[in-house]
Amino acid sequence: MTLKEQAAEISANLEYPACPLCQSDRRRFPFPLHGPYSVARCIECGFHYLYPRLIESAMQEAYRQSSYYEGGACGYADTSYTAQESALRATFKRLLHNLAKRGLTGGDLLEVGCGYGYLLDEARSLFDRRVGTEFSAQGAEIARKTGAEVFVEGIEQVPAEPKFDCVIATQVIEHVYEPLTFVRQLANHTKPGGHVVIATPDIGGALRKAMGRRWPSFKAPEHVLYFDFRTLSALMHQAGLTNVRRLPYPHAFPLGLLTAKFGLTMPPLLARPKVWVPATTVAAYGRVSSA
Ligand SMILES: [Zn+2]
Repeated sequence: MTLKEQAAEISANLEYPACPLCQSDRRRFPFPLHGPYSVARCIECGFHYLYPRLIESAMQEAYRQSSYYEGGACGYADTSYTAQESALRATFKRLLHNLAKRGLTGGDLLEVGCGYGYLLDEARSLFDRRVGTEFSAQGAEIARKTGAEVFVEGIEQVPAEPKFDCVIATQVIEHVYEPLTFVRQLANHTKPGGHVVIATPDIGGALRKAMGRRWPSFKAPEHVLYFDFRTLSALMHQAGLTNVRRLPYPHAFPLGLLTAKFGLTMPPLLARPKVWVPATTVAAYGRVSSA
């Protein structure tokens, strides 16, 4: 396909959404990205979202391709998911430790958007039952090797019963087209008294503020929603969760990936160590009330 044909195909697949949180049509454009894409800020509620965006069916088709995880949709050859394995495992280990400290581990775990299953694997000793969902059939196949039960596609594939004690979606909600429906689905799969945990890039974080529109999590077309703690906790409350609290979520990255995002290259040996970045992800947990 020529570049001109590709551009025509993309514009045929674009849509121009209202604010995904409050449905307002009033917006500013503080962060122009590449091509047709900008990050809009809702004038009514302050929420940030991609505008325009690819229609959901076109985006989901990309997620079904395993090449998404090997840098295909991200556009960086060296940011592949497997290259980040040890940093991701360290990140999830620390997340699980922070959940255990708050009494959120034990019983049954559902992870929505489990990728290759690194979190499910690190959670082996902390939960009795581990279930995941994953859009890519090949990703799901790899995740099943952790002994978890993994459904291909999204949460709608998970039976309504039995429910889970803890439902986690990390680095998923920024890809979601209807966030309120999504968080309600997470809550519907959670037992009364159980918890929903959501983590996503923090548009209110120090890293974003330092980098402006060069912030690596401004990713079009795949990141369609951009939260900070205020908008994330408001959405979780709106979905009926109670006791919504912030969860620390330091994120480890391979040094080589960070330098690549800043446009630098490093010798492979130097690129391997992990760097902890504290202010790039916002995470929150909320309780499904017993009533
Ligand atoms: Zn709004």
